[in-house]
Amino acid sequence: MGVHMTAPTRRAARGATVTATTRISPDLIRLSFTCPGIIGADLPYTDHYVKLLFVPEGADYSWPYDLAEIRDTRPREMHPVTRTYTLCNIDTVAGTFDIDFVIHGDEGLAGPWAMTASPGDQIAFAGPGGKWSPTPDYEHFVLAGDEAAAPAIVEALQQLPAGTTATAYIEISTDGARFDVPTPASAELVWVPREGAVHGSRLIEAVRAGGYPGRKTSWFIHGVAEMVKETRRFLFVDGDVDRADVSISGYWRLGMTEDQWQASKREFAEAMEADEAASAALS
Ligand SMILES: Cc1cc2nc3c(=O)[nH]c(=O)nc-3n(C[C@H](O)[C@H](O)[C@H](O)COP(=O)(O)OP(=O)(O)OC[C@H]3O[C@@H](n4cnc5c(N)ncnc54)[C@H](O)[C@@H]3O)c2cc1C
Repeated sequence: MGVHMTAPTRRAARGATVTATTRISPDLIRLSFTCPGIIGADLPYTDHYVKLLFVPEGADYSWPYDLAEIRDTRPREMHPVTRTYTLCNIDTVAGTFDIDFVIHGDEGLAGPWAMTASPGDQIAFAGPGGKWSPTPDYEHFVLAGDEAAAPAIVEALQQLPAGTTATAYIEISTDGARFDVPTPASAELVWVPREGAVHGSRLIEAVRAGGYPGRKTSWFIHGVAEMVKETRRFLFVDGDVDRADVSISGYWRLGMTEDQWQASKREFAEAMEADEAASAALS
């Protein structure tokens, strides 16, 4: 029986080695990895993610290391810095997976690392975690996100239950930045080019234009935090969608590193919920 993996534990770390790098679009680079640590694992979801671990400059350790020991013995600023990424094309027999990294300039750790990575490079990670996949108790799925959520959307399209339908909205920088998405006949794929607009603004326009499907629908909506706020309003304030039918979260935030976004996430969520409650009380 396989090992069932849920939320990444604080202490577990595994190693993965880059085997190939492929530029799949102007905005995305795919790194393929071999990772014996996932052989035999039970990874049933379509949004499995890992916390890549980046060793800070000046640290006195390098992979392989014991994450628990590092966290117990080194000062906080010397702990590995985490960056969250979705696993795609997972093969738990061969022990391989891909990660599609958004190229977003020179800032940050993971994006720039992916741009210069080459076969043989190693990275450690905690996880995988994951919690969502399209299930047969729904008739229809609305999947929406920017490039950061595209890997999870593409995975979901590959695993649509028989007899269900889906509409997938993927925001990309320009119309020319489309990439290959195997789309089953039961699904419609809508590309949403930003063409210079703020991240997420075109996506919410597209989702709004799609309206509320008249079937039992599950929603999977992830990406830039500002888009999440607007989409929640569309679903829960303007619409009457049941929260149990929705998976929605900010995968990143404009102008913030992942550390800053994680630290401010709770406050952002509380402000958003208070705003939704106030709007609901007025209506
Ligand atoms: C569950 C989950 C799954 C995710 N899966 C993926 C995935 O498969 N692929 C992926 O690329 N990302 C994914 N992300 C988002 C990713 O974790 C963030 O984009 C992260 O901030 C990237 O780290 P970094 O070191 O490159 O940049 P950081 O150091 O975190 O940020 C540096 C600067 O870059 C900006 N920035 C960060 N991400 C983006 C972006 N996507 N577009 C434009 N500007 C950006 C920040 O606002 C900041 O100004 C996922 C996030 C979560 C929570």
